[in-house]
Amino acid sequence: MSNRREFTKPVYAEIVKRAMHPKLGLCCEGCGLVLGKKPYHVDHTIADALQIDKSRKLTADDGKLLGVECCHKPKTVDDVGVIAKAKRVEANYHGFAAPKQKIKSAGFPVSEKSAARQTKIPLPPRPLYRPQEDTP
Ligand SMILES: [Zn+2]
Repeated sequence: MSNRREFTKPVYAEIVKRAMHPKLGLCCEGCGLVLGKKPYHVDHTIADALQIDKSRKLTADDGKLLGVECCHKPKTVDDVGVIAKAKRVEANYHGFAAPKQKIKSAGFPVSEKSAARQTKIPLPPRPLYRPQEDTP
């Protein structure tokens, strides 16, 4: 059984019908943009993962017809953020969450000055090629 409920076909059709303007055609229910042939998505009004009562059947009121380009993408990002946050809170509660801050490294970082002092004087670089006169 899937955790995410999808709209049944009649409900989906109802939403599409609702978003259909008699003269302009399909309009985005998010911003009112006339979509025409542009791609759209029927989105859940409330992020489904956050809905408490999973047994309640979805109705047309639970969905919104959104233009993919104008409204669907940002909304989805938002939903994911909210859900991720909710999951983080839960994880924190159970103590599974990774530490928020980086663990400070032990000791102080080596300062440039002392690093220079420790650096040995480099040997003169070896010639990459043997001098010409050595080759027969
Ligand atoms: Zn829109």
